[in-house]
Amino acid sequence: PCKGEVSYDELRDILLETPSSNKAEDWSRYYTAGPHLAGKNYSQALWTKERWEEFGIKSEIVSYDVYLNYPVDHRLALLKKENSGDDSTSAWKVSFEASLTEDVIEEDPTSGLEDSVPTFHGYSASGNVTAPIVYVNYGTYQDFEDLLKANVSLEGKIAIARYGGIFRGLKVKRAQELGMIGTILFTDPGDDGDITDEKGVLTYPDGPARQPSSVQRGSTQFLSVAPGDPTTPGYPSKPGVPRQPVDGAIPSIPSLPISYLDAIPILKALNGHGPKASDFNQYWTRNTGLKYKGVEYNIGPTPDDIAVNLYSKQEYVTTPLWNVIGTINGTIPDEVIIVGNHRDAWIAGGASDPNSGSAVINEVIRGFGEALSRSWKPLRTIVFASWDGEEYGLIGSTEWVEEFLPWLSKTNVAYLNVDVGVKGPHFSASAAPLLHNVIKVATAAVQSPNQTIPGQTVFDEWNKRISTMGSGSDFTAFQDFAGIPSIDVGFGSETVDPVYHYHSNYDSFYWMQKFGDPGFKYHRAMAQVMGLIAAQLVDLPVISFSASDYAHALRDYLDKVKAKLEGVLSPLEKNNTAELSEEAVVELRASTRRDPVSRANHGPHDRNNNKNGTAPSLDAESFRDSLDSLYKRVRKLTSTARALDQQAQNLERQLGEHYPWYHWYRYLRLWWAIRKVNNSYKVFERSFLWDLGLDGRPWFKHVVFAPGLWTGYAGAVFPGLMESIDTEDWENAVRWAGIIETCMFKASQQTGV
Ligand code: GLU
Ligand code: CA
Ligand code: ZN
Ligand code: ZN
Repeated sequence: PCKGEVSYDELRDILLETPSSNKAEDWSRYYTAGPHLAGKNYSQALWTKERWEEFGIKSEIVSYDVYLNYPVDHRLALLKKENSGDDSTSAWKVSFEASLTEDVIEEDPTSGLEDSVPTFHGYSASGNVTAPIVYVNYGTYQDFEDLLKANVSLEGKIAIARYGGIFRGLKVKRAQELGMIGTILFTDPGDDGDITDEKGVLTYPDGPARQPSSVQRGSTQFLSVAPGDPTTPGYPSKPGVPRQPVDGAIPSIPSLPISYLDAIPILKALNGHGPKASDFNQYWTRNTGLKYKGVEYNIGPTPDDIAVNLYSKQEYVTTPLWNVIGTINGTIPDEVIIVGNHRDAWIAGGASDPNSGSAVINEVIRGFGEALSRSWKPLRTIVFASWDGEEYGLIGSTEWVEEFLPWLSKTNVAYLNVDVGVKGPHFSASAAPLLHNVIKVATAAVQSPNQTIPGQTVFDEWNKRISTMGSGSDFTAFQDFAGIPSIDVGFGSETVDPVYHYHSNYDSFYWMQKFGDPGFKYHRAMAQVMGLIAAQLVDLPVISFSASDYAHALRDYLDKVKAKLEGVLSPLEKNNTAELSEEAVVELRASTRRDPVSRANHGPHDRNNNKNGTAPSLDAESFRDSLDSLYKRVRKLTSTARALDQQAQNLERQLGEHYPWYHWYRYLRLWWAIRKVNNSYKVFERSFLWDLGLDGRPWFKHVVFAPGLWTGYAGAVFPGLMESIDTEDWENAVRWAGIIETCMFKASQQTGV
């Protein structure tokens, strides 16, 4: 194949040299200048398409008609009954009216726009409820279990939960399942770590601590069922298609997000009522940042004469949204790399989420455009996507994947996602194992914007951890529905960095310029990293995957299964988790593991073989046998995977030996061999798709990776197996082991060696 005028090394140089901090700052300023909610950002879609075309990339707008909500009205008030005891004369009096707005900050122009987006939840139900409240900590599955165990009355009450740990929609989901009638979610400044008001740090805009009135908007769809338009699970929301009922996919009880300022009086109303957080375990007392403001973190419920009125009115519409899709056609028609970022934001700004990613992707595209202008001919096709509707539930990307699934299954080699490209200085990545190595190679070639020693690269500064793919961004449909190996990268922040005001008006251009990325240096570095990742995948003749990394990862995941099994068979002391990582704590607290009594009452699926008191037909011991044979299968896969990688390396070496052109037949033979290896790599991940999907969530087809049932963001590995162990459903665990073994067998065969 003809390689044009630009060599791979030259392409890399172009992709390192083209991205500029100034340009990134320009793009950021544009995208963050006004509201661009899903379905209300056509001008930005058009603008994006025009820029990409200026960069030399053929682009189009692809639209879908999707079901979503816009806020109409809301109210949250604390009520006290006066003259209680004599019902005939008692009346409710408002003791606190929540502002439900974020302060206008003079220095930060987009915090005060007239048409700024009210505080609300995506896919929230309309409703007007008045009831006593219960504090439910983070609202994780385990938090609710703790409440049930302590006999705290939940039914008919309104839950107040702090944000954090798990996806917000799952907090509402569990509250609803337990008969609660409304949910309030607040941000606890205790979770901001060292950068708090309480520790003497000035609040935004004077300093890096949280602005007290900031509110986290966000979707409350029940992510774990299926992402995308809830009325079209599994197929694209094209105009005129049949629509499914949304029950079970989105909440039926109302919810509102609030600031900690608004939360304080409501939490204080709980003081003295019911048990205290400190009567529970350590998860209830960690990061309780409002105890300095008079909040005692009582659980409640509040007595009958103290209640909250929660009113939320949402308008549901079926409305178009707009993805921008740009394409550079490669020489090989059936090998495609996709790079995407979402464009829609909850708020006017969105300087981090998602428009740091939008600025990055524009700089990446500008780089590729530059290469094209120097007559670069890409080997593989590269597709760029600016998704709409991510915030409501990954809608734009999911509908697009659902529409083009047959083509993607045949051609898509990898999907590269950047959502929040920059919110701090710490490189962070999650990825499918096939792609671990490309991330390492790319980061090692990009200079770190923060060099304590000259020459330090992003790789040097990175903690080298690569998380498994969970959910929370647009890679989900690619990875979990279509079986396309994906990555998600960005510069993140830790608890010592300026507080990132997630989904708040203060995720603004002004914040980014002043605190997040002054000089936009990390934006540039991110564009360089993404460019180099894409370049490896697009232009190296042998696809840069490592099947061995996949096999090793599978063995590690089996070890996790084994550890879980041991944990179930001989549970650890419950509170002995002081030495666990933050991640492990989240996993543990979101786990569906529970005692047999409550399990019978609210299991996530009803294949529980212990119900009705019948003896289990299979026990943990027989599952152990299945696990052993999975280990055996992984060992086989490890050796075939290694053989495939070795073959790939041999081919690379032969290519490097520069056959003279008159040995064209040798070239042909070599190219034929490369085609074969590349095809093996391309379909490798697809082996792990199981057409019937996971238990109770058939849209999720990947047997190795899925969002945790009760975490949402954090990924689960071997979800079918893990969930069966959680519920001690050994028959189902054995069934899942069989499915996984079949998939591993298929993967071994796909290696073609
Ligand atoms: N990034 C969005 C959020 O976390 C995703 C929403 C969703 O997956 O439904 O709020
Ligand atoms: Ca759909
Ligand atoms: Zn985002
Ligand atoms: Zn977001």
